[in-house]
Amino acid sequence: MPELPEVESLRNSLAPLLAGRTIVRALVSEPRLRRRMARDFAARVADRRVERIDRRAKYLLIALAGGDILMIHLGMSGSLTHRHKNFRAGAFELDPAHDHVVLELDNASRLVFNDPRRFGLMKLVPEAKITIIPELKGLGPEPMGPGFNPDYLRAKARGRRVAIKNLLMDQRIVAGVGNIYASEILFRAGVRPTRRAGRLARHELERIAHFTPEVLREAIGVGGTTFNDYMDGRGREGAFRPQVYDRAGEPCPRCATALRQVVVGQRSSFFCPACQK
Ligand code: ZN
Repeated sequence: MPELPEVESLRNSLAPLLAGRTIVRALVSEPRLRRRMARDFAARVADRRVERIDRRAKYLLIALAGGDILMIHLGMSGSLTHRHKNFRAGAFELDPAHDHVVLELDNASRLVFNDPRRFGLMKLVPEAKITIIPELKGLGPEPMGPGFNPDYLRAKARGRRVAIKNLLMDQRIVAGVGNIYASEILFRAGVRPTRRAGRLARHELERIAHFTPEVLREAIGVGGTTFNDYMDGRGREGAFRPQVYDRAGEPCPRCATALRQVVVGQRSSFFCPACQK
């Protein structure tokens, strides 16, 4: 499931291809995504120019001339690819049967939303309402922004009995961190995923606050992580290689102790029993 670095990599790959282009026509062949797409979606995006592409948490926000935002979430298996003459999906095939939404652009290229499991989301939101719509209004600060820092994390962890990994994955605390990167961040910080947030020492929370943006930036720098089917807007896989995630039984990259798996909040977590206290 794509997390923040994958969506940011998608944004980076699409921005130069889409900015300034006009959507000539939209074709919706399957409106039943996570929620049903609005009936007037195709009519409303037609003839609109793309002004810029932003991201909030795991949502891609494509600003259209005239004051609407085309909001996209990849869900579990969605991809958004820009297809021009030489487009070729990299690691895995994109079944055209799952090309649910096609936006035709004014240079004869297409932006295609493909989503086999249909947990994705695509909708148009007035720009003035973007911060108050249900999907975005309760979100915590961006992990790479100034609002997420050691003081903030310590304030949010204080008195909390929840496992630190769940705290990091709580979108109301910090936006965009999911299962893969929460495991990686806690490995870097040397803290076990099962520890209660409110019991962590000040220096441990400071390390977590430090490594959160660092790990995410590192992943964005190499185009994110591809586990199952993530690809960016050009069809390329991410090259980030997690050090602990999904590596139970393999040697810790730091000390060679066998990595372990534990279930925290119904999600698999991975850690080194020697490096993480
Ligand atoms: Zn280790």
